[in-house]
Amino acid sequence: MVSGSGKRRRSCAAAMVCENGQPMRPTFHIAVFEGDGIGPEIMAPALRVLKTAAEASRACTFTFETVPAGAAHYAESGVALPPSSLKAAREADAILLSAMGLPHVRYPDGTEISPQIELRMALDLYAGMRPVFVLPGANCPLSDPRALDIDFVLVRESTEGLFASVGRGVVDGDSEARETLRITRKTSEKLFDFAFRLARQRKQSGRGRGEVICVDKANVFKAFAFFRDIFVERSAEFSDIGASAEYVDAIAMRFVQRPWEFDVLVTENMFGDILSDLGAGIMGSLGLAPSGDIGDEHAVFQPCHGSAPDIAGRGVANPMAMILSAAMMADWLGHQHAEPGLIACGERIRRAVGEVLVEGNTLTADLGGSATTDMVGLAVEQACGELVA
Ligand code: NAD
Repeated sequence: MVSGSGKRRRSCAAAMVCENGQPMRPTFHIAVFEGDGIGPEIMAPALRVLKTAAEASRACTFTFETVPAGAAHYAESGVALPPSSLKAAREADAILLSAMGLPHVRYPDGTEISPQIELRMALDLYAGMRPVFVLPGANCPLSDPRALDIDFVLVRESTEGLFASVGRGVVDGDSEARETLRITRKTSEKLFDFAFRLARQRKQSGRGRGEVICVDKANVFKAFAFFRDIFVERSAEFSDIGASAEYVDAIAMRFVQRPWEFDVLVTENMFGDILSDLGAGIMGSLGLAPSGDIGDEHAVFQPCHGSAPDIAGRGVANPMAMILSAAMMADWLGHQHAEPGLIACGERIRRAVGEVLVEGNTLTADLGGSATTDMVGLAVEQACGELVA
């Protein structure tokens, strides 16, 4: 997985001291936001899977620090994202987050508590990676056999766009409301470079054709025409990668008609928010869709779904999206720190999830089964331990 700036950030990994001729494994410190609703239920199995996979891959040691934030924390304390939690996130090698927000807990202006958005802004996590793939055994709603070839990444700008207006919207009495969409050259250039590097890496690993599509609405809005112009400018630096631009409405139709043709899509924050749920729908369930919010220095990994209050506390949530997000984290850390063992650890987790899906006996209700969250977690953990490297 590409990193934000393409540079390696400082390593927090333990020194690689030799002991009895064996290189010591590095240690990575992970800040863990258990969040709201089903958050703690899906985080626990994901941490167990990560530890098992790291051990089986002889990759590294993980240490976890659970830190508070979220709607329930706000209801108790009046603070959504405590400064100490933000500090722990900044100091960690990577951040795992389940989901935050509860519909009945709101700020006085009526908006929801969303520290996950605050984190993206505070840590400048501009590139939201939303992989969309169909695993055998998943409930893909598309009947075309080519659906099994779906394997693309939606890159959602995650710090500006329409979300730059969060908390700043204006309501004039009961007659009018306004929100402002913001696109900057600085962030757009970094975003497009990230998307092109990702397409190059996918092409080199045989996973993609090497094509980036800019998704916008440049025919109507000046901000999107500006966005597209910067995309075209940056594409000149990546002559080995195909570049084209399409309107968001046309792309939405292609998500349903021919999504197997996509490689890398890059778009504004709000469009990305909507299209990533459409992508999760194609994958068969929100419970299967992972994501990573990547910046130059930090990265947060979390499922695409929310806190699912309708099923919280019953132990029936699908933990696979959280587990696959942990796999993305291992992959990102492996590339950041040039640790092939961690990349293998991420791959091991993805294969283990695939095995449990294909086997089909241990699935949660969203995938047509009756297994509990813990049963699925245990099945993935066992598959992780049994897989041959
Ligand atoms: P949601 O994603 O929480 O739930 C939508 C539907 O999908 C529900 O029926 C839910 O039961 C189901 N679902 C979600 N995750 C599942 C899983 N792992 N296994 C099985 N079923 C699953 O979306 P929502 O209901 O619109 O939002 C609920 C809360 O989550 C809101 O407060 C919202 O603001 C918040 N939210 C947070 C994030 C985030 O933290 N990134 C993202 C979206 C929504």
